[in-house]
Amino acid sequence: MDRGRNLKGIELFRVAAAFLVVAIHTSPLASYSATADFILTRVFARTAVPFFFMVTGCFVLGGGGNIRASLKKLLIIYAASAALYLPVNVYAGHLSGWNLLELVRQVFFEGTFYHLWYLPAAILGLWLTGLMLRRLGDRPTAFIAAALYALGLLGDSYWGLIENIPGINSAYNAVFALMGYTRNGLFFAPLFFWLGAKLRSGRGCSIGYEAAGLAAGLALMLGEALLARSQGWQRHDSMYVLLPFVMYFLFALLLRARGRVRLPLGSFSLLVYILHPAVIIAVRGAARFLGLWDILVENSLGHYAAVCLGSAAASAVILLVWARIRPRSVSPTARAWVEVSLDALKNNAKRLQDFAPEGCELMAVLKCDAYGHGAVRSARELNSIGVGAFAVACLAEGVELRRAGVRGLILILGFTPVDQWRVIRRYKLTQCAVSADYARALSEAVRGRVDVHLKVDTGMHRLGESWEHTEAIAGCFGLPRLNVTGMFTHLAVSDSLSDSDVSFTEEQIRRFFGLAAELERRGIDTGALHTQASYGLLNYPDARCAYARAGVALYGVKSDEHDGVRAWPELEPALSLRARIGLVRELPAGESIGYGREFTTARASKIAVLPVGYGDGVFRCAMHGGAEALVNGKRCPVVARICMDQLCLDVTDAGDVKPGSVATFIGRDGSEFISCEEFASKCGTISNEVLSRLGKRLPRVYN
Ligand SMILES: *Cc1c(COP(=O)(O)O)cnc(C)c1O
Repeated sequence: MDRGRNLKGIELFRVAAAFLVVAIHTSPLASYSATADFILTRVFARTAVPFFFMVTGCFVLGGGGNIRASLKKLLIIYAASAALYLPVNVYAGHLSGWNLLELVRQVFFEGTFYHLWYLPAAILGLWLTGLMLRRLGDRPTAFIAAALYALGLLGDSYWGLIENIPGINSAYNAVFALMGYTRNGLFFAPLFFWLGAKLRSGRGCSIGYEAAGLAAGLALMLGEALLARSQGWQRHDSMYVLLPFVMYFLFALLLRARGRVRLPLGSFSLLVYILHPAVIIAVRGAARFLGLWDILVENSLGHYAAVCLGSAAASAVILLVWARIRPRSVSPTARAWVEVSLDALKNNAKRLQDFAPEGCELMAVLKCDAYGHGAVRSARELNSIGVGAFAVACLAEGVELRRAGVRGLILILGFTPVDQWRVIRRYKLTQCAVSADYARALSEAVRGRVDVHLKVDTGMHRLGESWEHTEAIAGCFGLPRLNVTGMFTHLAVSDSLSDSDVSFTEEQIRRFFGLAAELERRGIDTGALHTQASYGLLNYPDARCAYARAGVALYGVKSDEHDGVRAWPELEPALSLRARIGLVRELPAGESIGYGREFTTARASKIAVLPVGYGDGVFRCAMHGGAEALVNGKRCPVVARICMDQLCLDVTDAGDVKPGSVATFIGRDGSEFISCEEFASKCGTISNEVLSRLGKRLPRVYN
């Protein structure tokens, strides 16, 4: 699960929320005032559980998360907690007299120990909300979740209003026979999962509004709770009309507090929650043993403090022990790594979408692991800001994205053998029909139907049926087992603004739309038309295109620094390539370094050896191209032959350089910057090749 470790507000509130849950189960103010206790534990503390639902919704459903992995984790936690409390259940005799209905109730809705209801609720709610978001989309999910919550309210704080209405009360009694409460994964949790996901991707209002909203919401919810209580409506006291509003503002405010948190507060709060009932039992035992019953049990505040301290101590001990024995994972920045700014990526997507003419949708090209940026993570982030169309090079890349839960159109730009049709269909991918013959063969192979976009060759002579073969192309639209949902072509020189290239491109565009017009004259629905890759979009914006297939521009770079573009809507590079220096050695003048003794020091030099090489994508020819890296914000030349896993930098002029210092091959260090275009030109190639050949061995670090 993505922990969102830079969301300090959320991380810190996890701990507060865990102690609020302890308060709900120990009533700290009960010795002093029943009303004060009600206000604390039945009103304000009711924010704790929805908060935990929202955290999961935010990280798992709001982009970047893996629902299946999170469900698995929750199931394991639930099974372990149920096992932990099994002896207590046996001792207390809770298990006697269980029938099947009781078992279903306990396992699926109420949890096998009183506080454990949260876990089945989280599992059911997450599964249900994830399913609705995927199948129905955002708005219907919100509507259904809100409706379920409203139904739940009547079985909770507002039970008194319907208790005596025949028909309705029997319907609710049937519900209660199955679930005991409406505070569960079906009625209660989905709205908060949805809200959490929403807040992750959307923008809150201003901080002033949020603070005012939270204050007003809490005050009104207090009024609501006191009213429901005074009227005797409450069957249970978890659900209030105002609770979702309070949670919205609270969570939006917490999301504002950024900063890294080093402590594992998520695990800590989870342990406090799971362990505190056991600690309650232990505190009672200890109080009896020590003769401190009055202070540690009878006095509600003393009891609360003892349970909190005991739970915190037990949780801390478990975490410390775990930290000592767990298998250590390799730090991703130990050697060499690729850093990706997700904000830059998302901003670029938004800017390209804004730049595209009305009606033309961004199709994010994520082939070759999203040009080295990480396809799954990029797709999820783009999904979360509303990008709904993607292109990949091959079937396996499309399957990878779908398996990771990516929604929307996924177009396979390249050739796929027709015998793979089951996979295409199973993962709802859209295949490029690379020629009319291919389309026919695919249609013959398939059972059922598959979606295709028809590729037309308008002069590039790579994939596509020739634009002149109107009959053959028209025939493809009538094939029985293909849904031809689009038609596209690829431009050969849209990255050049020279006169001859411009007229070639215009001719390609003319051929394509001429063909489309002819097909339409024949009554054929051509579906979505598209012609442009990044440079096509920037240089030839065209309102007739339903999609713009942006690759390299999405990542904020040009293929070549000298490429002419008519527009560059403030796109920023998203990727940096960095490595840690392993060794620094001093050599006198006249010493040769590396294979072939190709480099000899011309002066007394400080040479840094880095554990990165052409196996990671620093091309072997970069040495001759004059490649440099930044160390301490200074440019240092690559010297000697680049090896598969090692290379050398001359850091004589870079000041204090030690093992562990970071060298930047692509990206910013201080005021200096090496662009991907510059690095590529020194490798004798274009950005696209550099990015697509960044090694699999490099961890991707997202920020
Ligand atoms: C790779 C590719 C793109 C994206 O190209 P960029 O120049 O990186 O934007 C678009 N369309 C097709 C057919 C491609 O193969």
